[in-house]
Formats: sequence, structure tokens, C-alpha cells
Amino acid sequence: MSDSHSPAGRYAIAIGLAATAVVSRWLLDPWLPGGQISLVALPAVTAAAVWFGGYRAGILTAVLGYVACDYLFTDGVGFGPYTSVDLIRLLAVALSTTIIIVFGERARIVAAVKQRARAAEAERKVHEEFHRLADSAPVLIWTSGIDKKCTWFNQQWLEFVGRPMEREIGDGWAENVHPDDLQRCLQTYGRSFDSRLPFSMEYRLRRADGEYRWLLDAGIATQGPDGAFTGYIGSCIDITDRSRAERALQATQERFSRFMRHLPGLAWIKDIEGRYVFVNDAAAIAFGMPRDALYGRTDADIFPADVATMFAENDRRALASSGGLQMVEVLEHDDGVLHHSLVSKFPIPGADGENAWVGGIAIDITERKRAEDAVEEADRRKTDFLATLSHELRNPLAPIRNSLELVRRAGTDPAVISRSLDVMDRQTTHMVRLVDDLLDVNRITRDRLELRRDRISLGDVLRQAVETCAELAERGGHSIDLSLPDAPVYLDADPTRLVQVFGNLLNNACKYSARPGCIRIGVRPTGSSVVVSVADDGIGIPTDSLDRIFEMFAQLETGGGQSLGSLGIGLTLVKRLVELHGGSVEAKSDGVGCGSEFVVTLPIAASQAVDPPADAPSAVEPAAVPLRVLVVDDNEDSAESLASLLTFGGHETAIAHDGPEALAAAERFLPHVAILDVGLPTFSGHEVCRLLRTRPWARDIFIVALTGWGQEEDRRKSIEAGFDDHFVKPLDSEKLLSRLRSVPAPRT
Ligand code: ADP
Repeated sequence: MSDSHSPAGRYAIAIGLAATAVVSRWLLDPWLPGGQISLVALPAVTAAAVWFGGYRAGILTAVLGYVACDYLFTDGVGFGPYTSVDLIRLLAVALSTTIIIVFGERARIVAAVKQRARAAEAERKVHEEFHRLADSAPVLIWTSGIDKKCTWFNQQWLEFVGRPMEREIGDGWAENVHPDDLQRCLQTYGRSFDSRLPFSMEYRLRRADGEYRWLLDAGIATQGPDGAFTGYIGSCIDITDRSRAERALQATQERFSRFMRHLPGLAWIKDIEGRYVFVNDAAAIAFGMPRDALYGRTDADIFPADVATMFAENDRRALASSGGLQMVEVLEHDDGVLHHSLVSKFPIPGADGENAWVGGIAIDITERKRAEDAVEEADRRKTDFLATLSHELRNPLAPIRNSLELVRRAGTDPAVISRSLDVMDRQTTHMVRLVDDLLDVNRITRDRLELRRDRISLGDVLRQAVETCAELAERGGHSIDLSLPDAPVYLDADPTRLVQVFGNLLNNACKYSARPGCIRIGVRPTGSSVVVSVADDGIGIPTDSLDRIFEMFAQLETGGGQSLGSLGIGLTLVKRLVELHGGSVEAKSDGVGCGSEFVVTLPIAASQAVDPPADAPSAVEPAAVPLRVLVVDDNEDSAESLASLLTFGGHETAIAHDGPEALAAAERFLPHVAILDVGLPTFSGHEVCRLLRTRPWARDIFIVALTGWGQEEDRRKSIEAGFDDHFVKPLDSEKLLSRLRSVPAPRT
């Protein structure tokens, strides 16, 4: 019995069974009397047809079987002739087969109903079993039907959303999906549904307490027992905490990468086998390899063997230490420069607490090291310089002292006195020069040196420079050959500073010529500039030191200079002064013993015309008028010697050693001129000047500042304090006396 047969199947069964009846009868034929019991198998096959194919198949089987048997077996082959017995037999067959069909059909229906009921029961049990299972699963489960609508939710789902099944089925579930996620979810579900493919999606579902939680929902298509598509089933897990953890991890990674990107150095992590697992951008650049290519490689794959061995050894030591190590590592970077790095290496434990990686951070200290070396070198030079300076300052003191002793002993012998004075004058000049150079260097390095530019003739400058060295050249037996071009060359420059430049070069040329030699000064105008060369045939300069000699305190081992007043700052001054003028200087020499040449290039004045001097100095100096001069200096010797000089000059003098004393002396003495040392005890020379100017009698007297500070700024301050002039120590007495001649004659 089966309901599952199609109509064609049923009729096939009927025809088959009818044929079976015919064949059975035919097989029984030898034992049955001719034409007798020709329908013997018909009831059985009819019953079978009804059972398997339903009443229609039964009728068909009965009709076909009867006709076939009637034709084949009743009264020989063929139909008829029919008698009343045949008719009765037909009626009997019809009646019996009808009864069989009716009862058979009924039995078949009853059996089918029972079978369906059993099947339904079995299915119910399966569903029940599934729901029980699904309700006990620790995930949220739903099912949907072929119309895409949800048909069922497990207990976890209902508890999660806190709503009954009726509210959730159909499209009710969507009410709890976060509005930002709903469209995306429906699209994913719809697309998968249409193609019957599995899907997985993440969305936020509102929990009973109102909080949206992230769910991971995975669904697959379902089929009935007959294999037909019946809808979808999906299961969801709450991944909020996992997502949070993932997002936190992502944020940490982002923070880490950003931190590493901005780290002003190299950073890397290697595994325990020494394979790179992380490098920051700076490290990838320094190692000369893209990051991906570095990962998985060891130092031995990347660096020369000796470097790799050093790195590996340091890694090993760092791993063996608990808190890591610091060391200096040297590596030639991709730029070909040997870099020194301060490296910190440290072990990084894995989840099991065992060392799993070794981390490294390297800060490039190449520049710092260079700077440290430079500072060390500068410090060394400064120490040398101080030693040289004290030596050089002491040197002139010996002849000065000797000369003083000579003067004291010589009595009135004018020849001895004159010679001694010459020595003292020369040595003092030398000392003044040293100190001046020192001050200039100090100013120039602090950018405090100002040029007083004027339209000047280069020829005049060079002639003056030669004059400053004439005595030194004469004593060394050197000749100075100055050859100037026919046409004068004019510069917009500070004459004093240029005399200083060429004076220094000539001075050096004299000092560094061991035997009497020839110093040549050549001038060659070239368009907008002029090239001045100072060449000597002296001891020369090693070619590899030609640049170095312009550095501060640089002195070469070639000898000669040290005994002649050398501090190693002359050429520094030359270079900086020439550069201040917009020019350049270069040293040339073929080496020791081959002489030297210094080539100075200076810009020449745009127009080579000269303005006549504004006020030509008067040829006739005014006669000295005796003045009352107050000398104020806390150094008693200075005060005394200056006062004596002024007395020799025909002036009357008074002396004071500090501010209050000066004011008191001034009140008594009523001077025409006050020469005030600026750095006085109690209160400064500026203060004394200001206070003096408040006295009516002193408003117009001539007040001179005397100080070691000679910058423009210092002069300005003096003028602001009320001084009429500013003299720099050591005082040029000639200049002072000549200045006093211009002081208006006193009325009293
Ligand atoms: P100083 O002469 O005081 O030592 P400089 O700065 O003038 O300092 O010169 C620096 C060094 O350059 C000298 O110590 C000397 O070794 C070298 N030098 C300078 N000029 C000459 C020169 N004309 N011939 C040979 N060496 C020179």
C-alpha cells in the first residue's frame, strides 16, 4: 500500500498485475480443464492492484484481466460465443471484483491514514526533540520557512530579547535589531535565501535590558524528509565581549604602530631564534630592506658576518639578563655612513612566562658623538690655548721687567733709557695686540663685532698693514714687496679691520719664515671683486692642514710660531673678518718647506669713485691749554701713571679711587676734565658721571669714560650716562692728550 505512486505508476501497476493474472492462468492451464476456471487469478491480482495502486488500478486490473482471460482461455482463443452461463459468470466476476475493490480500497485508506498518523507522530517527535535540544543549546537559534519569515526561536533567543514567541516570529525579530545594521542584515539574509547558500553576519540585537549586543549569526538552508527546501535555520552567539577585546587589541596595535612610527630611532622585535617579527619604519630604512622582506630573516641574512655576530651576542646577553641591557652598537647604514647607536635590548616573555622575543630600540647618537668629540677637541684646544695664553702673556713681561731694572740702574744714561723704553714699548704693543685679538675673537664668535664701513682705498689699507709689520719684518730680515695695480681699488669696508686682516697675514708670513725671506703682496682686480695674495717663502703648511688652520686655536707642529707670540686665533679672526666683508680667504701651500700663500677675495665698491673726506683734519694742532683733570681709577698704579702723564702734558691733576671719593674730590677740585674708570667699587663710573652732571658747575665739563669694553653698545651706554668720550684700555696716551687739546679753554 502506498500513496506515493503517481497516476501513471498506478496504471502501470494495474497493467502489470493484469498481465500477472494472465500469465498465472496460462501456467495453470495444463492442470485446468479447457476453458474452465479461466479467471482463477483475477481476484488476487485485483486485490493487489487496489492495495498498491488504489481503486482505479483495481478496476483497470479487473477489466483487463477479465478481457484477456476471456479471450485466451474461455472456450478457446477468441471471444464468444456467449451463453447465459457466461453472462452469469461475468456478473459474478463483476460482483466479486467490486467487493474486492471496495473493501481493498477501504483497507488501503485506513492503512494510509494510520501510516500518515505514524509519520506525523514521528515528525512531531523529531521536532520536539530538536526544540528540546535547541532550547538547551547555549546559543540563540531561529528557523524560518520558505516565505523567509521566521517560524521559531529557541528559549535563549526569547530570554535574550525578553519577548514571547508570538512577538518574534514573522518579522517581529527585526524590531530589536539595531537600525544601523538592519538593512545590511536583511540584504545578506535575502541574498543567501534566494541562492540557498549559507551565510554569516554580525549585527547588534537589543537585549532585554536595553543594551545592544553584537551577535554573530550563521544560517544554512534546511530540507524536509523528501529533500525539499523548507527554509533556514540560524544560530547566533554573543560576540560583544570578543568584539570589544578585538577592538581593544586593534586600538592597542594602532597605538603601538603609531608610537613606533614616531619613535626617533629604530625599533624591532626578534623571536627567540633571532628572526625579525617586527621592525618600525626607521629600522626598515636603516637596514635597507622593506619590512616584509625583513620578517623571518635573521641578522646573519642581512648584515655582514662580524656585525651579525656582534648583534647575536648582544641579543643573547639581553635574553640572559632579566631587565635588559644597554650598549653602543655600530652599523653602516644604507647611506654608507657608520652610525653609532645607543641600543637598549630586552627580553619579552610569551604567554607562558618564558622569554619568547628580544626587543630592541636604538637611538642614533652619531651626531651626539660627533658633537661630544668636537666639544672634547674644543676643550682640549681651550686648555692648550690657556696654557699658550699664559705663556704668551708672560713672555713680554720678562723684557719689560728687565728694561725697568735697566732704567732704574742706568741712572741718567740716555742711550740705555732709550733702548729700554723701546723694548718696553714694543713688548707692551705686542701684549696689547694679543689682548685685542682675544677680545675680537670673543666678539666675533658672539656675533657682536660690527664693521664701520667707509669708502676706502685698498692700497692705503695694505700700506698701513705693511707698516704695522715693518719692525717685525726688519728684525727677521724679511723683505715685503707690495705691488699695487695702477688704478686704485676702492672698497666699502672697515679700514681698521682690513688692516688687521692683512697685518695678521703679514705678521704670520714674518713669523713662519725661519730664515730671511721675501714676502710678496699682489693685488688683482677681477670684475666685482679683488684678489689679494700674501705669499711667503717660509716654512710652509702641510697640505692636509690647509683647512684646519682657520679653526680657532689651531696651531701646527711645523714649529716657529710658538716663540713669536702665537695663540692660534689670528687666522680665525682673518677668516671671520673677511667673511663679514662678504669675502673669502684660502690658504695654499705645496707642503712643509715650500712657503705659503693666503688669497683673500673681497668685493670691491660698486662705484669706484671716492668722496672727498668730510672734514679733513686740521694740519695745525691747537696749543695745549692747562686743564684741571680729575683721574678716577681703583687701580692705584693706573691712576698714578695716567695722572703723571697728564702732568707732563701740562695739566693739573687730582686722583680718586672710588665713587664717593671721586664726588668729594670733584667738589673740592672743580675739574675741567674727569677721566672715570667705569668699573669702580661702591658705584660705577656711569653713576659717578650721572651724579656729576647734576652739579651745576659740572654740567658742561668734559668727562671721559675709561674701560676695557669697547663695543658700540658700550660706547652708547657711556654717552647715555653723560660721558663726552669713551676710551678703551690700555689707554693710548697720545690720543688722550690730543683729545684734551680740543676741550674748550676753561673760563676759570
Ligand atoms: P698663530 O699664528 O697665533 O699660531 P694663526 O691663527 O695666525 O695663529 O695661525 C694658525 C697656524 O697656522 C699657525 O700656528 C701656523 O702653524 C700656521 N700658519 C699661519 N700662517 C702661516 C704661514 N704664513 N706659514 C706657515 N704656517 C702658517
